[in-house]
Amino acid sequence: MWGMIATWRMALEGVTKGCEMLGRGQSAGDAVEAAIREVEDFPYYKSVGYGGLPNEEMEVELDAAYMDGDTLSIGAVAAIRDYANPVSIAKRLSQEQVNNVLVGEGAEKFAHKEGFERKNMLTDRAKAFYRKRKKEVAEQELKPYSGHDTVGMVCLDQKGTMTAATSTSGLFMKKKGRVGDSPIAGSGFYADSKVGGASATGLGEDLMKGCISYEIVRLMKEGLHPQEACERAVNLLDQELKERRGKAGDLSLIAMNKAGQWGVATNIEGFSFAVAVEGQEPKVYLVRRGEDGHCSFEEASKEWMDDYMRTRMAPVEE
Ligand code: ASP
Repeated sequence: MWGMIATWRMALEGVTKGCEMLGRGQSAGDAVEAAIREVEDFPYYKSVGYGGLPNEEMEVELDAAYMDGDTLSIGAVAAIRDYANPVSIAKRLSQEQVNNVLVGEGAEKFAHKEGFERKNMLTDRAKAFYRKRKKEVAEQELKPYSGHDTVGMVCLDQKGTMTAATSTSGLFMKKKGRVGDSPIAGSGFYADSKVGGASATGLGEDLMKGCISYEIVRLMKEGLHPQEACERAVNLLDQELKERRGKAGDLSLIAMNKAGQWGVATNIEGFSFAVAVEGQEPKVYLVRRGEDGHCSFEEASKEWMDDYMRTRMAPVEE
C-alpha cells in the first residue's frame, strides 16, 4: 500500500506527481520532496514558495520542513530568503548529525554552500497584493494577517516508510523573523513509520499551543483511526483555546497511518485537501464541520475546481 495526503487544493498537482513516483516504487522521501516542490514552483499560489506573500517589510521569508518517519530525522529552515525550494534545503538538513534547524541568514549560508538554486521569490503579483493590503489595512482597519495557507503533506511508500513535509510563506504581513508552526516538529508536522504522520495549516501561533501534529500521531499510536485522531485533537485544542483565551485561530489537520488510512479535521469553513492511495486517483475534497465537531467531506465539483483556478489567476485589482 502507498498513499499521500496534503492540505489544500493547491497540493493536487504535487500529490499527482508524488503518487506517480510512489506507484513506480520510489521512496516517500523523494515523492514528498517532489510533490512540495511542485507547489513551491507554481507562481499563482501566494502562500508557498515562488509568488508567496511577503512580510511587513515586503520580503518573502519562507519556512519549510521535512521528517523521515523511519529514522525520525528532522530538517527545517525558517525565515529563509531568496532560495527557490526551501523543502529541499530542509530535506538536506535532515541528513546532518546536528544543526538540523536553521533560520534566516544561517539557513541562506547553508543553502549557498550546498549549491541550492537562488531565486528572487518576490513576484510583481505578490508586490501588488502587498500594496493593496497596505491600503486596506490603513483605510478599513483590516487585520493584516488574513491570507495564508501552508502546504503540508504526509506520504507512505511501498516499503512502509512514512515522511512528512511542509512549506509556507507564513502569515501575510508577518513581522520580519516571525516563525510559524510549519518548520516546528510536532506542531506543523510529524511522521513515525511505525504509526503514521500528520501535518497542519492555520494560525501557527495557535497550532503550536497544542503540538497538534504530534498529538495526532500519539492518538493514532493509541489505536485511533486517523479521522478520529484528527477530530479529537482539533476539537480539544479548539475548545481549550476558546475556554482559556476566548477565541481559537484556524486549525486544519491532515493525517495518514501506516496502513494508508487517512483523516482530516478543521475548525473552519472552506478547508480543502488532496489525497490518493494505491488504487485511487488523486482527488480534492472539501471539508464540512458539523455542529458536533464531526467533519465530513465531499469531492470538489468541476465548477469549484475551475472557479478556484480562475480566482487564483485573476488580475490583482489595486
Ligand atoms: N501555519 C502557517 C503559519 O502560521 C500558515 C498557514 O498554514 O496558513 O505560518
